[in-house]
Amino acid sequence: MVKCPYCKVSISTRTEVCPLCHKNLIEAGVSKDEIKKTPLDFPKRGKLPALSGTLFDKVYLLCALAVVLVAIAVELIVLEKIFISWLLLSIIGYFYIFLRITIRKANFFPQKVLVQAILLSVVAISTRRIIPNPEVIFESVLPFIYLVSMIIIGIFFLIHYKKPSRYLLNLITIALLGFLPFLIDFALDIHAHPLSIATASLGAIILIMLFIFYAKIIISELKRSFHV
Ligand SMILES: [Zn+2]
Repeated sequence: MVKCPYCKVSISTRTEVCPLCHKNLIEAGVSKDEIKKTPLDFPKRGKLPALSGTLFDKVYLLCALAVVLVAIAVELIVLEKIFISWLLLSIIGYFYIFLRITIRKANFFPQKVLVQAILLSVVAISTRRIIPNPEVIFESVLPFIYLVSMIIIGIFFLIHYKKPSRYLLNLITIALLGFLPFLIDFALDIHAHPLSIATASLGAIILIMLFIFYAKIIISELKRSFHV
């Protein structure tokens, strides 16, 4: 316990300034050792994590950058165009986001499924230049990814229907994504594939059902998410 030489108040916590008269205690003749003996009134702050990410982030991203740059350089020299590097980049990016967000960050299972679906579609689209018949991506691969994700989140939703606000927006997002292959087919003037029609239809059914039964919760969730 330290006593302030000016106002004689007893100070029970560690400070160099008297909490009552605001005089500097060390200048007033109190020794530093005496101050150090008084207990802290707050817990010591540990080392703060660096903003630039963990060692894993640094090593992974640096290696990824090196690999992709070498691949691009080799392709530009040998083929004079970028061919496989896009795929390489998307796969490396995929695993990074998979490890950092899908496994560690996303709180709820439907969120993980949604992140996975978006990542997988980016990887699928990046194979466009390599595979012999790229229309299969929009005809079958994307519809398949969204259809499966919709069914998984849908089942999850049915099991946890008592807490709809947690999963509603994920379900709406995946249902909207379900329209994407159909719209791309339409935009590219490809004859709409049965799988993309099925996916879009399921998306439409999910959206209609959600808005019939959960309109109020959806609107309040949207307001909460976008802070309106
Ligand atoms: Zn004082």
